[in-house]
Amino acid sequence: MKAAPRTSRLFFAVWPPRAAAEALHAWALEARHATGGRATRAETIHLTLVFLGEVSDNELCGAIQAAREAKSNSHAMILEEAKFWRRNRIVWVGPRETPEPLGILVENLKGRLMAKNFKTENRPFAAHITLIRKADEPRQLPPLPAVSWPVEEFVLVRSQLSADGSCYERLASFALT
Ligand code: ATP
Ligand code: MG
Repeated sequence: MKAAPRTSRLFFAVWPPRAAAEALHAWALEARHATGGRATRAETIHLTLVFLGEVSDNELCGAIQAAREAKSNSHAMILEEAKFWRRNRIVWVGPRETPEPLGILVENLKGRLMAKNFKTENRPFAAHITLIRKADEPRQLPPLPAVSWPVEEFVLVRSQLSADGSCYERLASFALT
């Protein structure tokens, strides 16, 4: 009998520069005094563009090709808002409005993935970076630090769930122009 093809849990994301990730992690540690919960480790802080879920090895090339074709402009990520979402008990930060080139990138990428039969979310994209999980509602969150985050590429990432949380592996990166 032929073995079932191996699958991986994949998503496309944008990663902050190291200094930005450190600053956001430090902010999350401070915010945790008000929320409890678990702060995202600096090296895993990211902004998800498209979540693919389980993808077989045979389909992986299609996902990479779709990403190579998806074009948008590089731009700055401006983090202006920190919020608590009661629904899933996370604290996240993000821009007040999704930067136009980022919205274009997500739409472009989704369209190209759908053309290759990948299933993507229908929900409108809302740029957010999860910094605390299992949070309790805070009375107030500390002011956000000024963070420099030029968005010049996006990445395809494999996520492996383990007892100590998710382990991410970068599979490919794609430049924005
Ligand atoms: P953990 O699950 O260990 O808390 P994680 O959520 O970061 O860590 P994954 O569950 O592998 O790790 O998810 C990877 C990324 O995809 C995260 O940004 C997550 O928010 C997002 N994601 C996960 N599941 C979905 C989904 N069903 N729809 C949309 N995005 C998702
Ligand atoms: Mg998860």
